[in-house]
Amino acid sequence: MAQVHVIGAGLAGLSCAVALCRAGRAVSLYETAPQAGGRCRSYFDDTLGRRIDNGNHLLMSGNEAALAYLETIGAGETLTGPAQASFPFVDLERDERWVVRPGASPLPWWLLVPSRRVPGTRLRDYRSGLGLLFAGATDTVTDALERDGTLYARFWEPLAVAALNCDPSIGAAALLRPVLLRTFGRGAAYCRPLVAAQGLSESFVDPALTFITANGGTVRVGATLRAIVWQNDKPEALQFDTETVTVAPGDKVVIATPPTSAQRLLPGLEAPEGATAIVNAHMRFDKVVDWSWEAPLVGLIGGTAQWMFHRDDVVSVTVSGADALAEKSADDIAALLWCDVAQALGRDKANPPAIRVIKEKRATFLQSPEQVSRRPATRTRWPAVFLAGDWTDTGLPATIEGAIISGNQAAIAAMTA
Ligand SMILES: Cc1cc2nc3c(=O)[nH]c(=O)nc-3n(C[C@H](O)[C@H](O)[C@H](O)COP(=O)(O)OP(=O)(O)OC[C@H]3O[C@@H](n4cnc5c(N)ncnc54)[C@H](O)[C@@H]3O)c2cc1C
Repeated sequence: MAQVHVIGAGLAGLSCAVALCRAGRAVSLYETAPQAGGRCRSYFDDTLGRRIDNGNHLLMSGNEAALAYLETIGAGETLTGPAQASFPFVDLERDERWVVRPGASPLPWWLLVPSRRVPGTRLRDYRSGLGLLFAGATDTVTDALERDGTLYARFWEPLAVAALNCDPSIGAAALLRPVLLRTFGRGAAYCRPLVAAQGLSESFVDPALTFITANGGTVRVGATLRAIVWQNDKPEALQFDTETVTVAPGDKVVIATPPTSAQRLLPGLEAPEGATAIVNAHMRFDKVVDWSWEAPLVGLIGGTAQWMFHRDDVVSVTVSGADALAEKSADDIAALLWCDVAQALGRDKANPPAIRVIKEKRATFLQSPEQVSRRPATRTRWPAVFLAGDWTDTGLPATIEGAIISGNQAAIAAMTA
């Protein structure tokens, strides 16, 4: 049977391999790292003496492709989140706390109720969101939305930075729009925040590997694809560090690596350039942390920390668009972020827990309008070669949902080419 060779076992490669195996296709998956998962994985951390994720990952109940993927691999029950959509916030500067609770209807009737709005905002402030609906392909978020005001500082800015991983004056408005339309724009049922209950690998990676091998696929880790051997525009062989794999007639190749690796393998491929950082700090306490919020995450305004997540005895902080912060030392970052967490949790600042800082300097591609316009399609100019990855043209930001959709699209293209 013709094979599909999938290069890269991040979520794009995994979802591609899962979709192919599900359709009864022969699949070989190759990954350069010693483990699968790419930018979305768990590992044992010596500093904390505990298994943690490389970074906090938030899903929304409107992320239908991601939820369908989890169902397929038998991990549908591994996410956790509140029964109702709720987003708690703490303003560290003004010492204010509130919870945004979207209503059930796609029409935002809940905004008519002052107590459900962001404190300090008026109903008419929310009209600014219309700017996003009509934003053009070259507009940044701040071209489309008014930058001033409480609603911007307490809602639009944290949302845009989290979704696009860069300052709203840089991030593409056209990528923020589908996030809103697929979640908040459909009502509360689609914007429940969800996180992996145990760990990212336990939800997204390990069950996928089990599914792939149980369905006849093979997975090779520690296999770096160095070059593709071409016969005109057809791939004939894949040169890995340790072996050369023949690409038989009828076989297909899916490149599901980050853009820089894809460009090395496919000369002349246009792809987004530049990347932006995410910094995470995981703080391990001596016992399960008393967490008073219904949601597993809290937005922090006015400090360095942006979002605070909770899992048992660990509180983890995310800072997106964190290129400048990532230049600081891990100790300095830990001190800054602990200060914010201690205030939000009401803990003694002088008594920090064990903290592990993780800098992902290339967390996502730079999601500016210019770089978004460089995202390539699934099909390439080489008829048997396809692309997947959160940086390809999914119409969505570089997220779990985008990566999984890109893998599904590559699987369909490889099966129908
Ligand atoms: C800290 C952090 C926080 C995030 N938070 C969120 C969040 O809250 N919500 C959300 O939805 N998304 C979040 N994301 C984004 C999400 O993790 C990514 O969009 C997604 O994991 C990308 O998957 P991918 O398969 O496209 O890429 P990758 O995960 O980068 O996978 C590519 C794989 O290809 C492998 N590879 C590269 N070159 C080769 C080669 N030559 N041969 C073989 N293999 C190769 C790599 O090792 C890698 O495993 C976050 C990302 C980070 C880093």
